[in-house]
Amino acid sequence: MAIYDPTSRKAEEFINDAEIRETLAYAEENKHNLPLIDAILEKARPKKGETGYTCAGLTHREASVLLACDLPEKIEEIYRIAEETKLAFYGNRIVIFAPLYLSNYCVNGCVYCPYHMKNKHIPRRKLTQEEVRREVIALQDMGHKRLAIEAGEDPVNNPIEYILDCIHTIYGVHHKNGDIRRVNVNIAATTVENYRRLKEAGIGTYILFQETYHKESYLALHPTGPKHDYDYHTEAMDRAMDGGIDDVGLGVLFGLERYAYEFAGLLMHAEHLEAVHGVGPHTISVPRVKRADDIDPDAFDNGIDDETFAKITACIRLAVPYTGMIISTRETQAVREKLLRLGISQVSGGSRTSVGGYAEEERPHDTEQFDVSDQRTLDEVVRWLMENGHIPSFCTACYREGRTGDRFMSLCKSGQILNCCHPNALMTLAEYLEDYASPETKAVGDKLIERELERIPKEKVREIARRNIAEIRNNGKRDFRF
Ligand code: SAM
Repeated sequence: MAIYDPTSRKAEEFINDAEIRETLAYAEENKHNLPLIDAILEKARPKKGETGYTCAGLTHREASVLLACDLPEKIEEIYRIAEETKLAFYGNRIVIFAPLYLSNYCVNGCVYCPYHMKNKHIPRRKLTQEEVRREVIALQDMGHKRLAIEAGEDPVNNPIEYILDCIHTIYGVHHKNGDIRRVNVNIAATTVENYRRLKEAGIGTYILFQETYHKESYLALHPTGPKHDYDYHTEAMDRAMDGGIDDVGLGVLFGLERYAYEFAGLLMHAEHLEAVHGVGPHTISVPRVKRADDIDPDAFDNGIDDETFAKITACIRLAVPYTGMIISTRETQAVREKLLRLGISQVSGGSRTSVGGYAEEERPHDTEQFDVSDQRTLDEVVRWLMENGHIPSFCTACYREGRTGDRFMSLCKSGQILNCCHPNALMTLAEYLEDYASPETKAVGDKLIERELERIPKEKVREIARRNIAEIRNNGKRDFRF
């Protein structure tokens, strides 16, 4: 039997089934153990030091106890600490991105995904480079600066060379003041050599959802195709890091397996990356299975309600305080609004999940990967964020200044966010408001910028940010960053 070892490079040792089962039993036994719960909450609470906040984070065992706890007053406290943690390390900024679907050709048999190979009633489509250009222009015209590219797995139709060509095309499009400054990539597990090529092409984060950490279920949910190989999929982030990519994004597709099992597995994966590579995941996504072409989410037994979903999000925030958390338009406005208070730091907006969807006037459904619940425009999402006390940020500075991996984490830990990320968010928001916003959104945003500039602690930084924003507004200058 495999022994649990977070420093191992073998999937069954760092995501160890016996350790997860023991964790779940321990969590169940201690879910009402008040002294233990209070001690864990105390450990999780951000502590103010001389240079900013620090936070110990939680082990998968500790966080699992909190997740199991069903005492209403303790859940309230978990939520309060999640919000404090989010504000301490990320401030009130919310980073904005959009997915870009390149191709729905796929040779896998994932039973929850409409792109599975046996689905004969969806049209298969792959963007040409000219079509990629058109999609990017449409995305730039909305105001997007950061994309996550998505593709099915198909070595013949979507080989790595195709993905690299698309990245090259995307970075090369400059329409009016438009500019895609960071391309994150969500494609199937691949080789160290291919990860190296992605890194050389200038990608931001490499995102790969584990879907489920439960090996037996994984094998059943991915019955055919290269994705059937659980070990190869689970060890992908190690290969990505060996290939030089130091920002990786984890995720579980909630609904496929029991959530407590997935939660422990996800945190063990984060602990493993930290133990082996010295840096944890850059982001964690929390997708839930959605209705799609021939997919009925009710066919899966492990769907989670909104309350449980909120608790999972808050407990992840406490466990890995420095990791960004992403929520997509799979979720409704109401769910997103709640989760934004509990630790989410990135949202997508104005998304279309079909291949070629942005260049179409009407939202096409035939190649959609899943139903989009939040169908508002980016302008509406930006205004809603601001009206809820958040700063929508189009910033991509860290990655472009080489602040990736542990260098980003140290910025996060140093308490310099208010002197760096905060002004960057305001400057990129000012660009958005000038170039793309409706008059109502611009009015809300201009006021917010005035207020938020005052919160920059260093006078010199505040002055530079103010000057740059005047340049953006009055002289058409763009792309300032700290
Ligand atoms: N093909 C790549 C792979 O195999 O990892 C990744 C791209 S896929 C377009 C992105 C993600 O969408 C998948 O990892 C899966 O978690 C999610 N997804 C698939 N079907 C879904 C559904 N019905 N509802 C919600 N999310 C879904």
